[in-house]
Amino acid sequence: MAKAQAASLFHDRPHNHATCVSAANERARAAFEEKGLKLTPLRLRVFEELAGSHTAMGAYDLLERLAKNGPRLAPISVYRALDALLAAGVVHRLESRNAFFACHASEPQHKPSMIMVCSSCGTIAEAPAKPVRDAIDRLAKALSFQLETSLLEISGVCGPCASEKRA
Ligand SMILES: [Zn+2]
Ligand SMILES: [Zn+2]
Repeated sequence: MAKAQAASLFHDRPHNHATCVSAANERARAAFEEKGLKLTPLRLRVFEELAGSHTAMGAYDLLERLAKNGPRLAPISVYRALDALLAAGVVHRLESRNAFFACHASEPQHKPSMIMVCSSCGTIAEAPAKPVRDAIDRLAKALSFQLETSLLEISGVCGPCASEKRA
């Protein structure tokens, strides 16, 4: 991946997040429509809460956040909304932290291939990682190892955090 492309995955700080939110919203609507699923008001609320940042949130944090801006919801309703959003591919699960994040990647309806998480600010970026995936596939094949999951969740420090530390 080109350096400039990789860098653009982590946004400048501050950035005009409203454009990220409206783009994510648009992709979510399109994804639901294409799959013939309903983007119900509850699903939309959950999605918007997650899309409000580039970080991941656990289900209970999400419940608390939603309760601040509206009636308290039953955990099961939020889990169901999350399931629908995951199925539509507009929210992904960060397995290593049992948390969820809105997809801000530009190509809709994909499986995240490599997730980079900043351990300092929590910002998440999805990066295309075909060469890495291919290498894992080859290695697994060579070892006669049948892959079930091959999570690529990598933690580190993002560019903006690193330059803040240097400053
Ligand atoms: Zn943003
Ligand atoms: Zn960071």
